[in-house]
Amino acid sequence: MSAKKTIIADYHIHSRFSPDSESEIEDIIETASEKGIRYIIITDHYELADQHANTINVDLYRNVMEKYSLPVGVELGWDGIKELNIDTKKFDYVLLSHHYVEEPITQESYKNYLFRLLDIMQRFDEYHALAHLDFPRRYHRTKEPFSVELYDLISEILKLVIKNGKMLEVNTATIELYGEPHPSVEILKLYKSLGGRNITIGSDAHSLEQIGRGIEKGIEILKELGYNNILVFDTEWREVRI
Ligand SMILES: [Zn+2]
Ligand SMILES: [Zn+2]
Repeated sequence: MSAKKTIIADYHIHSRFSPDSESEIEDIIETASEKGIRYIIITDHYELADQHANTINVDLYRNVMEKYSLPVGVELGWDGIKELNIDTKKFDYVLLSHHYVEEPITQESYKNYLFRLLDIMQRFDEYHALAHLDFPRRYHRTKEPFSVELYDLISEILKLVIKNGKMLEVNTATIELYGEPHPSVEILKLYKSLGGRNITIGSDAHSLEQIGRGIEKGIEILKELGYNNILVFDTEWREVRI
């Protein structure tokens, strides 16, 4: 009998603590185990924005995660405007997200997204990983990649990730949608060329079926680009070979 395949990690999963997921924690753990996923972190939405605002009772949330011996993760969505009212020290993994996307979605709105993201990162440093860098692309009518004309701006963002010792999330939710993760292969090449090496990976699952989606393909892409490791957390962050 062949050994069960192993998927190293899924560090972006939503549970019923998010308004857009109904997954129970026990079911997430069981599903991840069935799919051979070694390390998971549940990262529910703590959204500071006028639209989709959502807060979590952090102490209750922590207790639940600790009961299941899971690191305590959160996807912190900030629009750069609303007052920050979260004690990020209570989390082992803070994924920094920006979810505001202007319509219509064009290269111009991509550019504005990147400017807002850069501004947010210059003002806020209490996070571990930057989530889904080219996020608006998933909502573009034809899934058009970010233009090379935006690469200087993207470099500024990536340099800040590197300089501040943060990790870049490879979000594999979009692989089934258009064949590339967030950020795209070209942006991952750029990160590497700038000296970036710290990477986490996650499916952005909002249901049990979506847990682990795209991760194997994402790892394959990373290996082809010459990345050898991703980061996982038990009591501290460490690299594991992919
Ligand atoms: Zn998100
Ligand atoms: Zn998410």
